[in-house]
Amino acid sequence: MKPYRPEPFTDFSDTENHEALAASIRLVQGELGREYPLIIGGRRIMTEDTFNSINPSNSSQIIGTMSKANAQLAEQAIQSAGETFQVWSQTPVRERARLLFKAAAILRRRKHEFNAWLMLEAGKPRAEADADTAEAIDFMEYYGRQMIEMSETASSKLVWMNGEDNDLQYIPLGVGVVIPPWNFPLAIMAGMTTAAVVAGNTVVLKPASATPVVAFKFIELMEEAGMPAGVAQFLPGSGSEIGDFLVTHKLTRFISFTGSREVGQRIFELSAKSAPGQIWLKRFVGELGGKDAIVVDGEADLEAAARAIVSSAFGYSGQKCSACSRAIVHHKVYDAVLERCIELTANLTAGDVLDFGNYTGPVIDRSAYNKISGYMETGASEGRLMLGGGKADTPGYFIQPAIFADLGPDSVLMQEEIFGPILAFCKAGSFDEALDIANNTDYGLTGAVFSTNPSHLEAARSRFHVGNLYINRKCTGAIVGVHPFGGFNMSGTDSKAGGPDYLLQFTQLKLISEQL
Ligand code: NAP
Repeated sequence: MKPYRPEPFTDFSDTENHEALAASIRLVQGELGREYPLIIGGRRIMTEDTFNSINPSNSSQIIGTMSKANAQLAEQAIQSAGETFQVWSQTPVRERARLLFKAAAILRRRKHEFNAWLMLEAGKPRAEADADTAEAIDFMEYYGRQMIEMSETASSKLVWMNGEDNDLQYIPLGVGVVIPPWNFPLAIMAGMTTAAVVAGNTVVLKPASATPVVAFKFIELMEEAGMPAGVAQFLPGSGSEIGDFLVTHKLTRFISFTGSREVGQRIFELSAKSAPGQIWLKRFVGELGGKDAIVVDGEADLEAAARAIVSSAFGYSGQKCSACSRAIVHHKVYDAVLERCIELTANLTAGDVLDFGNYTGPVIDRSAYNKISGYMETGASEGRLMLGGGKADTPGYFIQPAIFADLGPDSVLMQEEIFGPILAFCKAGSFDEALDIANNTDYGLTGAVFSTNPSHLEAARSRFHVGNLYINRKCTGAIVGVHPFGGFNMSGTDSKAGGPDYLLQFTQLKLISEQL
C-alpha cells in the first residue's frame, strides 16, 4: 500500500484548472432546485414534508429541496442500520478500507464538481472549497490505512507468554448517529461518517440542514464506490426535531457530533442516560466550539504575525472552529500589529463566491447574519471599531471583515464564540500575561504564538492550553495526519480527527486468550 500523502490544493492560476472548475460550476448550476430523498437501507424515500437548502450568496436561489425525516422515519433508519451491522461488522477490514480508497479516488476525479457544490451551497470561495474537498479525500485515505494498521498490529503489541495464544481485535461498536456541522459540509461530514464505517459500524447520518445536498452527493458517491445498502442511512431533518429521538434511542451505541457547544452539551447529557432496554453505555465523541487566539510577543516577526492573524480570522468569513477571533498582542508592538492588520483587512472584499476576486463569501444564513450583527453592536459598546462590519443582506448574507481594538480580557467579544468575520484585539502587559489572557476562556481548541524568544516559546508550549498549538504560523488549516485536530475543555472530547487515535473511539478492544 502506498504511503499516505496529503492531497495537494488545486492551483487555480493554471488555466486548465480554472476552466475545469468553471465547467463544473455550469454543470452544477444546471442541477439546482432538484428534489432529494432520504436514503434508508439503500431505498430512496421522498416525503411530503420538505425543506430548502439555499445559496447564501443569493438567498433567492434554491440549491435543492430535501425530504425531511420525522420520528417514524428515524426509527426505520436506526432499525436498518441495526440489521446491516450484523453483516457489515463481519466484513473484513481490508474490504472496508478498500471502500474508502475507492471513494477517495472517485472524489479526486470529481473534485471540481464537489468544489462547485460547496461554493454554491456553503458560500465557500473556491480555494476554501478546494481545501474542503482535499480534506475529505485525505480523511478517507488516512482512516482506511489507520484501520488496516490497527487491526494488523494490535496483537503484536502484547507481551508473549509461554503456553498461550493471545489475540487482540478491534471490533466495532454498533449503530452510530453522525451529526456534522455545515461549515465543512464535505470534509467533516465525510470524515465522521467514513471513520465510523471503516471501523465496522453502521450509521445514521443526519446532515446539517444548511448543507444537505453536498452530503447527499457524498452518500451517492459512497454507493458508487460499492458501499452496501444500509451501511449509511441518509436522514436529513431538523436537529431539534429528530435529534433527541436519534440520540436517546436504545439501539444507538455512539454519537459522533461536531457542532456548537450548546448542542453538544445537550447531546452529551442525553446520551449519558440509558433508555429502557438499552444494554450499553453510549459513547459520545464531541468536537465543539472554539475561541481561538493568536498571541504576538514583543519580539516577533510582526509582518508574518499580522498576515497570519488576518488570514486565520477572515478565511471563510471566520466560520471555522479554528478561526482566530482574538489577537492578544504585547503592548510594545500592539499599535504596529493592529495597524498592519487593518491595512491588510481593508483590501479584503466580501461578495458572491462566483466572482473569484472576492476574498470571502457570505455568512451561512440569516440567523448567522443576525447573530453576527448583534456582536457588531456589542463590540461597539465594548471596544473601538477600527474597520469593517458593513453589511448587505440582499441577495446574500455579506458582512465586511471587522476589527475591534482595545477589548478587555473578560469582554463578551473576547469570551463568546462569534463564528463570523469579527476580530478582537487585546493588549497584554507582558508575554506571560498574554498567555493568561489566551487561556482565559472556556474553550481550548487552537492557538498560535508569534515570538523569536526561545524561552517564551518554551513557556507557550507548556502553558498555552489548546489541543492544537501553532508556533510562528496561522491557527487554521490543519492537515489530516499532519496536524491531528481537536480541543480541550468546552471545545470537546479532544477526539483528534485525522490523528492516529481517532478510530479507537469507534471500536472496542477484545482479547482472546487460548490455552495451548
Ligand atoms: P450546531 O448548530 O450545533 O449544529 C450542528 C449539528 O447539530 C447540525 O447537524 C444540527 O442540525 C444538529 N443539531 C442541532 N440541534 C440538535 C439537537 N437538539 N439534537 C441533535 N442534533 C442537533 O452547529 P453548527 O452551526 O452547524 O456549526 C458551528 C459550530 O460547530 C461552531 O460552534 C464550531 O466551532 C463548531 N465546529 C467545531 C469543530 C471542531 O472540530 N471542534 C469543527 C467544525 C465546527 P440542524 O442543522 O438541523 O440544526
